[in-house]
Amino acid sequence: MALPPTLKKGTDSWKIKPNLYDYQTVSKNFSWKSVKSALAGLPKGKGINIAYEAVDRHANADLAHHTAIRWISKKGETQDITYQELKAQTNRFANVLQQLKIKKGEAVFSMMGRIPELYFTALGTLKNTSIFCPLFSAFGPEPILQRMGKGKATVLVTTTKLYQRKINNILEQLPSLRYVLLTDAEKDLNEKVLSLSALMEEASHDFEIPPTDPNDPALLHFTSGTTGMPKGAVHIHNAVLTHYMTGKYVLDFQEGDIFWCTADPGWVTGTSYGIISPLLHGVTNIVAEAEFDAIQWFEILQREKINIWYTAPTAIRRLMRLEIKPKDVFDLSALRLIHSVGEPLNPEAILWAQDALGMPIHDNWWQTETGGIMISNFPSVEIRPGSMGLPLPGIEVVILKNNKEEWQEIDTPDTVGELALKVGWPSMFVAYLEEEERYKKCFYGDWYLTGDLAKVDQDGYYWFVGRSKDIIKTSGHMVGPFEVESALMEHEAVAEAAVIGIPDEVAGEIVKAFVSLNKNYIWDEKLRLELIGFCRKKLGAAVAPKVIDCIANLPKTKSGKIMRRLLKARELGLPEGDTSTLEK
Ligand code: ATP
Ligand code: MG
Repeated sequence: MALPPTLKKGTDSWKIKPNLYDYQTVSKNFSWKSVKSALAGLPKGKGINIAYEAVDRHANADLAHHTAIRWISKKGETQDITYQELKAQTNRFANVLQQLKIKKGEAVFSMMGRIPELYFTALGTLKNTSIFCPLFSAFGPEPILQRMGKGKATVLVTTTKLYQRKINNILEQLPSLRYVLLTDAEKDLNEKVLSLSALMEEASHDFEIPPTDPNDPALLHFTSGTTGMPKGAVHIHNAVLTHYMTGKYVLDFQEGDIFWCTADPGWVTGTSYGIISPLLHGVTNIVAEAEFDAIQWFEILQREKINIWYTAPTAIRRLMRLEIKPKDVFDLSALRLIHSVGEPLNPEAILWAQDALGMPIHDNWWQTETGGIMISNFPSVEIRPGSMGLPLPGIEVVILKNNKEEWQEIDTPDTVGELALKVGWPSMFVAYLEEEERYKKCFYGDWYLTGDLAKVDQDGYYWFVGRSKDIIKTSGHMVGPFEVESALMEHEAVAEAAVIGIPDEVAGEIVKAFVSLNKNYIWDEKLRLELIGFCRKKLGAAVAPKVIDCIANLPKTKSGKIMRRLLKARELGLPEGDTSTLEK
């Protein structure tokens, strides 16, 4: 089931010729050295700093007056921040940190919604060579405490309201925390809790970025907690090479583009692609403060004339529930490319988009640990719905099989095994905070083991099968939840599906599905049997779910990933484990 490429190579149908015009040739000739030469490096050979490349490089040149960030408030008001203004504001923030004696390598945490101060904090922290760690503003005190404790936070930037609701009572439990900076307080509350706006006003807008080694830690991101306790992954300044390369080849940034990444910087996509990558390419980055609203999202796409849109399957599945065909109601003519990440993208969603949006969605795969996109569909390459696509230039991907404690490469196509990456790409995580052993266990020789199972077809397309922890072993078959969920999604009644294995004396495990329904469908015995029959026809009796339940809302992480482990724990009456990232 292959879709035609979005744009046909060498024909007039290109709106703009993509940067990755010829995948094979670019991959063959690729070198990280050439990516580096597209960046500036700090003046006088003082190393490489993410924020310098993203902001100052443009502010000091032709893009000084170009809009770097267009912020859309919850009320719908907009504020444009040029590259020059962004340079000044991030310099101010870096000077604030200097004044407070926050040093290189110390951690600055943020906890706020998507407001301009978040972006000043992120980039200003990088300028100061401190480590930036964003937290979701929806976290409760316990997950905040856990993460700030583990990350040895020295500064937290937040709002007065969040401070009063969540931080005030836990301050004493955070001995390393020296300052809380409140974005909206007019005056300092005490010696430790200060007004950021007052400090910013006094701070100079000039700042010289100190020497930054490519290996200096820059970012700390906690994983989504989909499979267990979130891990703290550390990334270095050299990651900027991946951010740049993937922005060029995957998101296809071109001069004058307007880009929207819907992810919150509370998880890695919202930082790598919601802040860094678009700015590296000097495009205009749309930041929408409001949470998901289907109609408002299409209004933003239309009004802001967005060219490239990066979102997630969870949002796409919600858009699919709309009764309108968006392209008939909204003017989406500026839109050139849609990308998705975070979970497997069901083929059904790609076909829906082709019809309802006028173009397919490009799925791509990566993890917090990889720091940037590793496998992707590209505008110039045929899409195979359900496949994650092809490895990025410079990224070596293999499927490994475990044989008596040894990992071996599988060279037969379409064979399921562990998805692994050859170590050495610039944005590879350099540590799991306080979990050295766990970090070491992720590697075997030259390979980083991702914890995901996948297969590769004979043309080099990678197909996600499931997380190794979620794989179901039933009567001698290995069943990946994605395959079963995608089959269920093809049924018109099903809005979302999650599949788990439950222990069974005879079969080992049996496949159980949970579904939520589209509007106008009612859950009853007839529909249950119909869905079982539907899956049997598509997947065969061995793989099709034996049991199906309906629940209104599947449990998800705040970044929108279905938490199968929670469904399983609830099903089996076991402890739920860490639920800090559960969307409430
Ligand atoms: P934790 O590691 O704490 O359990 P997590 O793995 O969900 O959480 P992230 O790093 O945010 O945390 O997510 C990366 C994972 O998301 C990948 O390992 C993969 O399982 C899944 N994923 C991301 N993109 C895709 C995709 N395009 N197709 C399939 N799965 C994807
Ligand atoms: Mg993970």
